[in-house]
Amino acid sequence: MPASLQRTRLTADEYANGILSADRVVLSKAITLVESKLPGDNAIAESLIEKILPHTGNAMRIGITGVPGVGKSTFIEAFGLYLISLSKSVAVLTIDPSSQRTQGSILGDKTRMESLSNHPKAFVRPSSTGNTLGGVNTRTRETMLLCEAFGFDVVIIETVGVGQSETTLRGIVDFFLLLMLAGAGDELQGIKRGIMEMADAIAINKADGDNVRMTELARREYQNALHLFPPSESGWVPEVVTCSSLHNEGMEKIFNIILKQDKHMRDVGYFNENRKHQNLNWMFETVNHHLQSDFYNHPKIKSQLVQLQQQVESGEVAAITAAHHLMKIFKEIKY
Ligand code: GDP
Repeated sequence: MPASLQRTRLTADEYANGILSADRVVLSKAITLVESKLPGDNAIAESLIEKILPHTGNAMRIGITGVPGVGKSTFIEAFGLYLISLSKSVAVLTIDPSSQRTQGSILGDKTRMESLSNHPKAFVRPSSTGNTLGGVNTRTRETMLLCEAFGFDVVIIETVGVGQSETTLRGIVDFFLLLMLAGAGDELQGIKRGIMEMADAIAINKADGDNVRMTELARREYQNALHLFPPSESGWVPEVVTCSSLHNEGMEKIFNIILKQDKHMRDVGYFNENRKHQNLNWMFETVNHHLQSDFYNHPKIKSQLVQLQQQVESGEVAAITAAHHLMKIFKEIKY
């Protein structure tokens, strides 16, 4: 990167040119920009996204979820390196929605996906997500687009499978992989049926050592359970496989399922439909995001909110009355 670009904030053109010429330093800075909450940054980010948009859409977008400890980072490391062995470049965005792992990730960041992080054909970026419910938001999508414009063949987005994040993640990616363990009930794993229904494939991880038989049993059980779900609109029937991320086993099998699903989706015309639909959602989510942020950050709202909150809590004012009052103030604000 030229010395003139060393200062922290670049122009939208400088960001775009840097990304399109595959400058990693600029990519990192651009992601920070997109994640920024400063109004000045928002305008540059928006302009940047517009500039790079024509260069997006060509990556394979894969979402991966599963409860903490299931082996997500071990899997992504093994899978990412497998993809690299096929001459593909890989970007990994990891989303940590809760403070649950914040402490761990200080240590974990060093050890998580170490070989992949250090590989010149990979880019691993933990995402700071603010306080959005579930952690995945429109910024995740925008970050993904930056990685696509940069030229990565595959973008993997990882989230912890315990919250709302899966639904949002499903709305960003083309393929959604759920990692599970054998021998722990769904309840135990905190995986809701709805999440299983969203999955394009389930991989039962840790199929090694004494665990091989158990994982095979679990695989059959899950495959049977999935047959009981109503068929998906696209006609894709999710597949259940076993893998051992620790021993790099099952990576090819999983990639083949992804390729098969991709072909199926394109053949039935669902691939483009899905992306169009996702794009439209992006617009609505952005509008919602701006509305919320304009609303809650407005000084007139802020000044009333604390008191009203207390009054609603104490039962002095009805929740709906308080809401109407706030909306009335908001509508009277002149922009
Ligand atoms: P995450 O919290 O879902 O990202 O899980 P990690 O990737 O950090 O893995 C949690 C633990 O499970 C670590 O101790 C890993 O070494 C172990 N682990 C992950 N994958 C496998 C596997 O395939 N087999 C075995 N035996 N252990 C695994």
